[in-house]
Amino acid sequence: MIVTDLPGYPSLKEYQRIAGRARFSVIEELAGRLEGVRVQEINSTRYGGGVAEILMSYVPFLNALGLETTWSVMEAEPAFFDVTKTLHNFLQGRDGFSPSMIETYWEAQRQNEGLIEDDADVVTIHDPQPLGLVEFLTARELDRKRLLWRCHVQLETVPTTTVGSIGNILRRLVEKYNASIFSSFQYLPLWNVPSFIIPPFIDPLSEKNRDIPRAEIDATIEKYGVDPEKPIVTQVSRYDVFKDPVGVIQAFKRVRKKIPCQLVLVGGRACDDPECFIVLREVRDTAEDDPDIHVLDLPPDSHREINALQRASDVIVQKSIKEGFGLTVTEGLWKGKPVVAGHVGGIPLQIRDGWNGYLVSTVQETADRILHLLRHPEKAEEMGARGKEFVREYYLLSRGVQDHLTVIDQVTNGRITARDSVICYHPQVVTTRMAGCAARY
Ligand code: UDP
Repeated sequence: MIVTDLPGYPSLKEYQRIAGRARFSVIEELAGRLEGVRVQEINSTRYGGGVAEILMSYVPFLNALGLETTWSVMEAEPAFFDVTKTLHNFLQGRDGFSPSMIETYWEAQRQNEGLIEDDADVVTIHDPQPLGLVEFLTARELDRKRLLWRCHVQLETVPTTTVGSIGNILRRLVEKYNASIFSSFQYLPLWNVPSFIIPPFIDPLSEKNRDIPRAEIDATIEKYGVDPEKPIVTQVSRYDVFKDPVGVIQAFKRVRKKIPCQLVLVGGRACDDPECFIVLREVRDTAEDDPDIHVLDLPPDSHREINALQRASDVIVQKSIKEGFGLTVTEGLWKGKPVVAGHVGGIPLQIRDGWNGYLVSTVQETADRILHLLRHPEKAEEMGARGKEFVREYYLLSRGVQDHLTVIDQVTNGRITARDSVICYHPQVVTTRMAGCAARY
């Protein structure tokens, strides 16, 4: 399915104002070098989750720059999404993937065989779901097209020693691509494919992130029965075990024993996530109809309402136990809020502990940090202000577009020579991750 209901082209002038003239001229220069290149993005869901969030802004932005860009979404039976959810969990270190699931995976790849457009020059495949589409390209197509695999998951060590195992199949597929892109150094597998590090980004002018009037924020919290007089602690996330919404409720209950406050859990159902119903039920059981706990199950296009709820909050929480990057953290920081978040995956790329938020590992730590911020609102405000500037510097759409166009330029203009090159454009990642990286290589 080709996504056709995207917002119109954005005003590049507005982005230029936010990103600054210097960065913007680099982007325009890159777009000029790539004139005539046709770009295609492929993922497995139109709504829900960070990938859809990114593509919703990235695709119109590239078109506004003059690069013809399309976005296609895989279609498949529910059984396929059960399998890919298990695969996703497996890649993040949880057992459960069995060899019998591989056939279901290939069945869906065959159903989507024609998804890669004939006239696309650069095709970015997001995450493992559509990874296998590369198998249906002819040698000529493989030669003419440039294929990128964009991995958004917190990739744990994937065993590739057993012939025919899923790890082995993934590796073989990824090595057919011209390059792969990861959110952080720590996820780089030692596979034979050029790799780039590009952290994700948010769109400061999207409905999710743009400034909105105070009256709209007030109306939104009233709509959901949230008390404007009581401090608000919020987590926005798909209902997924790795986001640990149950742990958030447990932490909240400890905080509320010490200070009056309320918890808002904002979630919805990603079209490719079959497990969310189970987790949502568990969340509701744990919340026990507590009037201070608001469990929201919002439709997938509730961007403005989520924006309003984030802005109404005193503290944003993202107590993940695995997290590829965590756009909800970026969104919270951009709204000037201190964020208490799991010390996992890509979250430490965004939060410097004690500076713009807190990194936590346990329910008790989460409770302690939330309580501290609620008791010291001036400190919370200071942290929030730092977080906003940090996001402005590193995690906005303009930076992401610049990085992606640089990679596209590298692969289309044949700049990559070493098969094992690791290229990173992100100073924050280099400085914070270099030690770990050196240890692995
Ligand atoms: N999101 C949403 N509705 C929801 C839950 C999440 O629009 O009910 C958005 C959220 O605002 C963020 C994205 O989905 O933009 C989640 O991205 P993140 O990287 O935090 O996690 P992922 O879901 O990709 O694991």
